[in-house]
Amino acid sequence: MPHTPRPAAPRRARRRLRAVALLAPAVTVCLVAADTPPVPLGIGDPLFPHLGNPGYDVMAYDLSFTYSGKNTEPLKAVTVIDARTTADLDRINLDFAHGTVGSVEVDGEPARFATAGEDLVITPEKSLEKGDRTRITVRHTSDPVSPEDRQGGWVRTADGLAMANQADVAHLVFPCNDHPSDKARFTFRVTVPDGLTAVANGLPDGVRRAGTSATWTYRSAHPMATELAQVSIGRSTVLHRPGPHGLPVRDVVPEGQEAALEPWLAKTPGQIAWMEEKAGRYPFETYGLLMADATTGFELETQTLSLFEKGLFTEPGYPAWYVESLMVHELAHQWFGNSVSPRSWSDLWLNEGHATWYEALWSEETAGRPLADRMKAAYGASDQWRTSGGPPGAPKPPSTANKIGIFRANVYDGAALVLYALRQEIGGPAFERLERSWTSRHRDGNASTADFVRLASETAGRDLTGFLHAWLYDAKTPPMPGRPDWKPASAAQEATATTDKALAAPVPAR
Ligand SMILES: [Zn+2]
Repeated sequence: MPHTPRPAAPRRARRRLRAVALLAPAVTVCLVAADTPPVPLGIGDPLFPHLGNPGYDVMAYDLSFTYSGKNTEPLKAVTVIDARTTADLDRINLDFAHGTVGSVEVDGEPARFATAGEDLVITPEKSLEKGDRTRITVRHTSDPVSPEDRQGGWVRTADGLAMANQADVAHLVFPCNDHPSDKARFTFRVTVPDGLTAVANGLPDGVRRAGTSATWTYRSAHPMATELAQVSIGRSTVLHRPGPHGLPVRDVVPEGQEAALEPWLAKTPGQIAWMEEKAGRYPFETYGLLMADATTGFELETQTLSLFEKGLFTEPGYPAWYVESLMVHELAHQWFGNSVSPRSWSDLWLNEGHATWYEALWSEETAGRPLADRMKAAYGASDQWRTSGGPPGAPKPPSTANKIGIFRANVYDGAALVLYALRQEIGGPAFERLERSWTSRHRDGNASTADFVRLASETAGRDLTGFLHAWLYDAKTPPMPGRPDWKPASAAQEATATTDKALAAPVPAR
């Protein structure tokens, strides 16, 4: 996704920001004195330094949206945030960049607010002390028309709206602590005119009808990152079927398309059962596909309800094995990326590497497309991916000129290649134990690359730090264990291979 850098913070704020260690749980500095101008803050993510805010931990979001029926008009919205402060705060910074704020209350009292960069800076009547519980209520609009220089947040569909907030655009939709390290529970209350259906992450908690509209409520049973929020509004049919051990599977499709899409939807329970064999029990209360009538150029693993372009399933030209592999990719993210969230965006390879791994493994086991062939091709290209996007464990920051942002081949097949090397090194049984330990140990939490290296060493019974660091951070791809014949492709070979791939099939990002 495109990324717009925020204005640089004044010097004073920068100095204070440095004092706040990245994602440190205990911040003891008083962040900004109340008499200084409001400044945007961040938690110092290596790729998005201004995302997130120090000094508090969000426990719960309660989001209310009122939709007029036209997806070009701003929605009326109320965002209620329950948070616990982790520092003394004169001000509370939220990320919010694309709506009009009408009023802000902190613990029921009106609070002053100002915009600074992409932050909404709130000055409560009374400053907050470390360890306080606080409730912040923001009345605002939420604009579904993207700013000119930025995509994502709301996605306008043929019949309404969907959401695609990854990586750094949830704060175009609602005020939040927009970093995956601060996961929280979500409640959604979506009011839509009669004839439209609203669906969001988690399970439904009732529909209240009033006049010519209805308010649909959904709650998430597990903590979720802001980037994974999903709200679908449209002329939709909601389909239900049982998954493994009674898991409710729920899909959202455009009205009248049920029969055409059913052959694809019917595959989900089997895919969940397959993933459970590999990665342990499915981590959430429900799963399903949101097939949106939109052209996004990507599919997205929004928690419990993955977003897909309907055209992926209806347009001829996409081979069945390929469509299924993308379904498995987004499903695998529910374990890798959603239940276990990255600690920083530099840990993105843990999301995309694992999702690509299971995508490729599914194709090997069900469509006879050998994983080793795909990994050998990746090995050939890996050095060039590292040069252009950085090694998998240290991706380069997004550039404004590049719409792909941080979602480059180095964190997809380039990172799956790291997992392949690890499996070659420690053997299949240890690798499979590691995968299941990873998803159970960090379930509903955050984990970093260092956590993965540590658990890999623990599982294998020997120190793999040197081995994995070379694979994750070196400028050149290390030799592949057990595959001495694998070689990096020359620049000329790579150029040809890339062209062939591009011509063979348009490949949406995922
Ligand atoms: Zn993915």
